[in-house]
Amino acid sequence: VSQQLASFSSLWFDSLSWQPTEIQQSLFEKLYEKVLAANAGLNLTRITEPEEFWEKHLWDSLSAIRHFIDTYPQRLKANFKVIDVGTGGGFPGVPVAIVQPDWLVYLLDSTQKKITFVERLTVELELTNTRTIVGRAEAIAQNKPHREAYDLVLIRAVANANVCAEYVLPLLKLGGTAILYRGQWTPEETRSLEGALEQLGGKIGEIKPLTTPLTGGIRHCIYLTKFARTPPNFPRAVGIPNQQPL
Ligand code: SAH
Repeated sequence: VSQQLASFSSLWFDSLSWQPTEIQQSLFEKLYEKVLAANAGLNLTRITEPEEFWEKHLWDSLSAIRHFIDTYPQRLKANFKVIDVGTGGGFPGVPVAIVQPDWLVYLLDSTQKKITFVERLTVELELTNTRTIVGRAEAIAQNKPHREAYDLVLIRAVANANVCAEYVLPLLKLGGTAILYRGQWTPEETRSLEGALEQLGGKIGEIKPLTTPLTGGIRHCIYLTKFARTPPNFPRAVGIPNQQPL
């Protein structure tokens, strides 16, 4: 395994007071290699340079999780179940599975070829705590074994925030947390999201602004909590959440 990401190890510590173990570090290197090798054919990401990969995929995926673990330790239960909705090339779910081997991480995408790649990737990385699912979030969330079954739901770069809320709240257990990975964020978006969440049994727990450590990019992690069951009519039929956002 090459060492293209090794130079960032002190940045992990400086920015998140956390550092990957050697095993996790070598899994990150392998992940970078595999994503890069598959990228040309699959169009998984426009990110190819090591700096960008480290910051926009690894750091971005994990900063939201470090904050969650540091801030809400009481929300971590035994047999912690996580789902990454619209995982694409495996982000944020695969880095999360690497650093939290005690969590069971489901990787969901509607595109078969992306899940075929992610499945092979997790086998090559010898991750035993991941499961892959092909399907639309709207359909999976109406499927008994998945409905209100997850402690933590992650969603990055899939749709606007209200659409994401309709995808994630039905998958979330009562008392669970969903993390919307966003870039810029406005008070108007907060107001609009609150309107959607009211219908879904969720509320905003925290809006956490973050600055990426290499290029100073703006990120907002929106932490949602679920305080009431989601009515059975949500999510609406496939395609409707996106066509007619709440
Ligand atoms: N989360 C990844 C990929 C973002 S691209 C990242 O941040 O890098 C968005 C992905 O979401 C695509 O792979 C697309 O197939 C998937 N997707 C879009 N709508 C979806 C839905 N309703 N259910 C499941 N997957 C969906």
